[in-house]
Amino acid sequence: SNQIKNAKLVLLGDVATGKSSLVLRFVKGQFVEFQVSVAFCDSCSIASCESTIGAAFFSQVVAVNDESVKFEIWDTAGQERYHSLAPMYYRGAAAAVVVYDITNAATFTRAKKWVQELQAQGSPNTIVALAGNKADLLEARQVSAEEAQTYAQENGLFFMETSAKTAINVNNIFYEIAKRLTQV
Ligand code: GDP
Ligand code: MG
Repeated sequence: SNQIKNAKLVLLGDVATGKSSLVLRFVKGQFVEFQVSVAFCDSCSIASCESTIGAAFFSQVVAVNDESVKFEIWDTAGQERYHSLAPMYYRGAAAAVVVYDITNAATFTRAKKWVQELQAQGSPNTIVALAGNKADLLEARQVSAEEAQTYAQENGLFFMETSAKTAINVNNIFYEIAKRLTQV
């Protein structure tokens, strides 16, 4: 069918792991080296929107064979002070992308906490993807791909290393999610 399926997607993860950069790369094909977190919340034209509601909203369509998935993307702020808002974004989400930074082991620990929270409080149908971002910074790596892959397998997630900077696997991770959404 030529149907468009709307799918709410939320990005979760520690501050500065590259959540907003992944969205910017996916939605606009751009990368900004020194990202100001609120600078491109232009879909609602309110510069302070991310800091006000703890998230920014974007949308993008992905075609899978003869179907289309229209992602409604909520890019959350990641700061602890916005934590209480997170359930508003992941509840009822068709998909969640939990992002860590491969050069920062603490962000991987934080990602596991998000996965636990999603498994405990989220919807059991939510497709959860784990993104090891900044995969271009190989020389600074602190989290091995093997460790993350093993963790993902054990927890029923799918895993990819991504780079918002070089664009590696960015379209791919959203495409893989869209594929899974069109199979249900
Ligand atoms: P957020 O707080 O998770 O939304 O993170 P941002 O998207 O604001 O990114 C934080 C910083 O990391 C910014 O300076 C980005 O330019 C940088 N960054 C994001 N993704 C990548 C990446 O894949 N590779 C590299 N080298 N830097 C990145
Ligand atoms: Mg951000």
